Amino acid sequence: MKFVDEFRDPQAARQLIERIEHMATQLSHPIKLMEICGGHTHTIYRYGLENLLPNTIDFVHGPGCPVCVIPMGRVDDALWLAAQPGVILTTFGDMMRVPGSERSLMQARAQGCDIRFVYSPLDSLKIAEENPQKKVVFFAVGFETTAPSTAVTLRYAKQRGVSNFSVFSNHVTIEPPLRAIADGGKTQVDGFIGPGHVATVVGTQAFDFLPEEFNLPVAVCGFEPLDILQGTAMLLEQFTSGAVDAGHAAVQNQYARVVRPEGNEAARALLEEVFTIRDTFEWRGLGWLERSGMGIADAYADFDAERIFNVPGRRVEDPPACECGSVLTGHIKPWQCKVFGTACTPDTPIGTCMVSPEGACAAYYNFGRIDRELTVQLGR
Ligand code: SF4
Repeated sequence: MKFVDEFRDPQAARQLIERIEHMATQLSHPIKLMEICGGHTHTIYRYGLENLLPNTIDFVHGPGCPVCVIPMGRVDDALWLAAQPGVILTTFGDMMRVPGSERSLMQARAQGCDIRFVYSPLDSLKIAEENPQKKVVFFAVGFETTAPSTAVTLRYAKQRGVSNFSVFSNHVTIEPPLRAIADGGKTQVDGFIGPGHVATVVGTQAFDFLPEEFNLPVAVCGFEPLDILQGTAMLLEQFTSGAVDAGHAAVQNQYARVVRPEGNEAARALLEEVFTIRDTFEWRGLGWLERSGMGIADAYADFDAERIFNVPGRRVEDPPACECGSVLTGHIKPWQCKVFGTACTPDTPIGTCMVSPEGACAAYYNFGRIDRELTVQLGR
């Protein structure tokens, strides 16, 4: 598929669904596919794809929403930064409502902190240049997808000598959480819908370890409904052809119109220049994962908010009612969390998965998805 009309062609969708239904009859057991990226979760539930597919194919949701995986302690650190004299804290809009242990950035702004949301880190750099008497900190989150935009901003800041700009980096890498899930996690996953956006930077090669070390198939997918259906068909083919049983699972590239096997080498070189991989980093739901976070490299130390401000590095347990960790590792579905849709809603979020537009809980809440069989019964 290359052109926009093809992405939503009902005839092509019907054919793909029939193909999937046919292959599903040949499966030796029900299969669980994890879509890693929250963008995929939203496509699946916005378009009701799960209910179009046989019950023997179950989608579970992975750790690819960058806002969702930020632990509460890092939000508290950002709030601490925002409270420092003369600081303007900037971040993306979806971080504003993420709860810290006592308040969110939105609430801190209402209480007088100068916190602004931006569409790009470059907007943050502009704010720094326009406010030379202030210290502007960009609260950066995201995987390898968004990290290059932070990196290029830091390069510009250094070139232009903008000394009142810094970054509080919470950028993370995609491989460690997938390895943690594949390697004895609580969730038994049979295959992965690979994250198309991250793959534009890291390439399909970054997922080779999943078939090579764990015999788990991967289909790197785009974000239109037919992309997901085609990727699901690709994965099923790996099962029904006997490739998986023979130990020959593979990474396939459904999103070839955008993703190359080697990814974007210029972007990766930029990441290597500006960031350094931390020894360990805390993830919501997955705990501390080795070599999973991107800190600022020594060459850019003058722009590293953690060194400039001596950020406290708070560690905070999630609220007892919060089951985001189990949702982010595909162990439970959002509706199985005790507070889903009652105490925790998009207006009153308890966990991150209900806040972010990419969060699985927000997808279920916004598109009315509950238990699959119950959905079918209610529809009768
Ligand atoms: S419903 Fe709320 S608390 Fe429960 S897992 Fe989802 S975001 Fe977390």
